[in-house]
Amino acid sequence: MNSSGAKQVLQMAAMRLGFQACRVARADFLAEEAPSLDAWLAKGYHGSMAYMENHYEKRLDPRKLVPGAKSVISLAYNYFPEKDLADGEKPRIAKYAYGEDYHRVVKDKLFELLDSLRESLGAMEGRCFVDSAPVMERAWAQRSGLGWVGKNSLLLRKNEGSFFFLAELIVDYDFTPDTPVADHCGTCTRCLDACPTGAIISPEVVDSSRCISHMTIELHGALPESHKAAISPWVFGCDICQDVCPWNRHAKSHTEPRFTPNEWPDWTAEDWTEMTEETFGRVFGKSALTRRGLEGIRRNLGAGRLES
Ligand code: SF4
Ligand code: SF4
Repeated sequence: MNSSGAKQVLQMAAMRLGFQACRVARADFLAEEAPSLDAWLAKGYHGSMAYMENHYEKRLDPRKLVPGAKSVISLAYNYFPEKDLADGEKPRIAKYAYGEDYHRVVKDKLFELLDSLRESLGAMEGRCFVDSAPVMERAWAQRSGLGWVGKNSLLLRKNEGSFFFLAELIVDYDFTPDTPVADHCGTCTRCLDACPTGAIISPEVVDSSRCISHMTIELHGALPESHKAAISPWVFGCDICQDVCPWNRHAKSHTEPRFTPNEWPDWTAEDWTEMTEETFGRVFGKSALTRRGLEGIRRNLGAGRLES
């Protein structure tokens, strides 16, 4: 099959599986991105994510991660919910974690996509990644033209916004690469102005140690006193810099049943504070909240009770 035919097969298989977009970049050394990664790490903006310092070479060169890699396929999978469940001062979860853990849901889709490509295009070696290995996913998505990196450091798509997961297939098949798209942030600074902890240091640079998402999920030990007021009522993640982004006004609801929340949206604040291990397992056992566990969620719930 010629290269444009192969690309069409890829696009159609991705759409059939529910991905909202799929673009390709050549698997190469990320020469332009390396200095920014160095500077970000040197300034300690990775916070408590010490693992970001590991696998430096693999992070910058996918051929070291997948021998013989020729293409990095970047995909977007929508998680924008029909209804925003943020409700006053009630404990709040970031939209991406409303339902089942995206690692499982999106990875299942990626495996299906790889199988389908092998069926249509023949033998193909490759690996699937969903925020789980040393892959610079935003850099690849930007290179492929899946979107542009906004000032809030997230990938944005014109007329679609940023409420989608990024996923990658790195394969030894030579798909025709796509080209980057223009940056459409323009003079807007809404995300920088709205971030309650000043975590967006400058356009595209987030200091994780001040980011509510990082503090409520990745940080172990006590929450920083200076940020507790801003963290409450978030108990897992933070959506503020996406909620204020004008491009997200165009976001359409996802159609993934596995992202539908179960009983927790009906909970009162008391239900949250009285949650037992059994309840946590029943309600959040398949969700991304297991990454933090009940102990971590209890710590985050405590942010709002202090000094009050
Ligand atoms: S997720 Fe929240 S705390 Fe982190 S940069 Fe965005 S607005 Fe700031
Ligand atoms: S809020 Fe404005 S500056 Fe920030 S990512 Fe969206 S468009 Fe870009």
